[in-house]
Amino acid sequence: MLKIVEIFYSIQGEGKFSGYPCVFIRLHGCNLDCHFCDEDLHKGFFESKESKEILENIKKYPTKQVVITGGEPSLNDINGFIDALHVEGYHVAVESNGYKFEHIKNADWITYSPKDWNALHVEGFNEYKFIVEKNSNIEKILELKSDKPIYIQPQNHKDSIDKNNTEFCIELVKKYPHFRLSVQLHKYLGVE
Ligand code: SF4
Repeated sequence: MLKIVEIFYSIQGEGKFSGYPCVFIRLHGCNLDCHFCDEDLHKGFFESKESKEILENIKKYPTKQVVITGGEPSLNDINGFIDALHVEGYHVAVESNGYKFEHIKNADWITYSPKDWNALHVEGFNEYKFIVEKNSNIEKILELKSDKPIYIQPQNHKDSIDKNNTEFCIELVKKYPHFRLSVQLHKYLGVE
C-alpha cells in the first residue's frame, strides 16, 4: 500500500525533464520539515492505495512519464511499485532529498535535492537540484565536483516565483557555467 496525497497530470517544471507532460504521484510524509517547503500537502490528508488501483488511475492519462514526489518518496521501499510501472511501459522519475536511495533504486531517473549541503551524497541518483536563495551559503555547491548535472533552482513561493532569488540564480549559473538553471516552469505557466 502507498500513502497517496494526490495524483495529477501536468508539465514537469524542474530538472532534465522540464517540459515533459507527466503524471505526478505525490506520496505522504517527509523525514524533514524545511521552512521553505512548497509542498506542505504531504503533511495532510492521504489515502492508502494498492499499486493496481494507482495504475488504473494513471492509465487514463496519455503520457508514459511518471514522476513520484512527496514529501519524501524514499521513506518506504517503493521499488516493487516502480517495477509494476515499468511492466506497463512507464518511465519513472523520483524526486528525493536523499533519505534512502536504495528504497527507490529501480527508478529510471532520480533527482536528489539535498537539504544538508554539508553532507552530500555522491552516488545513487542522476541529477542534483539545489534550492537556492540570495542569502544561501553556496560554498559547498561551488566545491562540488561531479559528472552529474547540477541544477540550481531558485527558492520560490508556493504558487509564484521569487524574482530576487531567480535573479541571483541566473547570475550564479552565468558565472559558473557547469551549473544548469531549473526555474520551476510550472509556476510560470500557472499550472499545478
Ligand atoms: S525535504 Fe522537500 S518535501 Fe520534505 S519538508 Fe523539505 S522541501 Fe518539503
